[in-house]
Amino acid sequence: VNILLLGGGGREHAFAWKIAQSPRLEKLYIAPGNAGTRACGMNVDLDPSNFPALKQFVLNNYINLVVVGPEQPLVDGVKDYFLNDPEIRHIPVVGPSQEAARLEGSKEYAKAFMARHGVPTAAYFTVTASNVEEGCEFLASKVKAPYVLKADGLAAGKGVLIIDDLAEAQAELRAMLDGKFGSASKKVVIEEFLSGIEVSVFVATDGNSYKILPEAKDYKRIGEGDTGLNTGGMGAVSPVPFATPEFMEKVRARIVEPTVRGIREEGLDYTGFIFIGLMNCGGDPMVIEYNVRMGDPETEVVLPRITSDMIDLLEGIAHKTLHEKTLEVTPRTAATVVCVSEGYPGSYPKGLPISGLPAGGNVMGNSIVFHAGTGLKDGLTVTAGGRVLAVTSLGDSIRAATDRSYETIAKIDYEGKYCRRDIGRDLL
Ligand code: ATP
Repeated sequence: VNILLLGGGGREHAFAWKIAQSPRLEKLYIAPGNAGTRACGMNVDLDPSNFPALKQFVLNNYINLVVVGPEQPLVDGVKDYFLNDPEIRHIPVVGPSQEAARLEGSKEYAKAFMARHGVPTAAYFTVTASNVEEGCEFLASKVKAPYVLKADGLAAGKGVLIIDDLAEAQAELRAMLDGKFGSASKKVVIEEFLSGIEVSVFVATDGNSYKILPEAKDYKRIGEGDTGLNTGGMGAVSPVPFATPEFMEKVRARIVEPTVRGIREEGLDYTGFIFIGLMNCGGDPMVIEYNVRMGDPETEVVLPRITSDMIDLLEGIAHKTLHEKTLEVTPRTAATVVCVSEGYPGSYPKGLPISGLPAGGNVMGNSIVFHAGTGLKDGLTVTAGGRVLAVTSLGDSIRAATDRSYETIAKIDYEGKYCRRDIGRDLL
């Protein structure tokens, strides 16, 4: 099988690493990839949003399967582009259609989908310029503090505000509608606040059947003890101790089943991964959001726990034969700790040399070193992003797995290296 993988972060390095272990792989190309993915396949200098260039590439290189890492190409319609072109429609794309990608691209679309299919989620109200007063009234009389305001569209993880004061929430609602987050907040979803602990559940689906992958907990804030600004993610752990078999059965029956059934009933073209962000509210799961792809850094703990063949799984998704496949998962704990650049999530330097990386591969002692934002300069691996590396280890406990990742991180260095030292500690 020849595979083209789109994306270039830690998630894609984890995909590339796992795909490269399959005996069924002939050639793997990663567009654009990073310094780490070179050990798994060939990096190609292609923009995942340049669909005509992707077409030329897949035809020239006899690609049999396209795997999409990030959401942007999906929201832009890469799946539809392939399906609508007679020359490439036979090449399956692992990912949803543009319409189905609205489950991530529009909060209102996702909430209405959940309402139609009885998926438990927070009560909500949608506001646009035409019903601002009603929106303010909803805040005043229908929900209690803290107030949750969400830009309808994609806002790079920054479009959600949680505000304690009513007058401030009403003012922010107006500011959002006035374009605080550009066109993403021309529509705002007000939500009831859910209190509980968050967990991320991952589902592979071919649109008919599904497999639930290992769940994960991620760490979003830059500072220890979950303080400071939001980031793309500073670490993740899987499995999550409070996601007991009883809880996961509720997730399956109340959330995954109706979600996949809804996709099928609405005729959505969805062959890919669903990331369900949910809140454990006193033992009952409630959906916070859908994402239409795997998470980063959650992929860096989910895939290392899967022991069965990755191409088999991807083909099951793409060829709608998922019900024939078996998914095997190790009960061991995986923990990933993300090393970031100094200044992140604000501005940060790039191009700093990284020392101590494993030579010729990504295994180092008991850890797997996934590259996130790295590049090459004069033959040296250098930093090229805010999140630089995601170091994953497996262990028999959360402590064992995280300790191993911290030991490995101690051997790797670049100027301004920072990681949170408390990944997984809240779960001990
Ligand atoms: P990201 O891309 O970072 O996952 P997003 O912009 O897509 O975020 P959401 O995931 O919907 O937005 O919300 C971001 C965070 O805000 C959630 O992870 C959760 O911590 C919090 N949050 C969202 N909705 C609620 C809610 N109804 N009640 C309580 N907290 C919430």
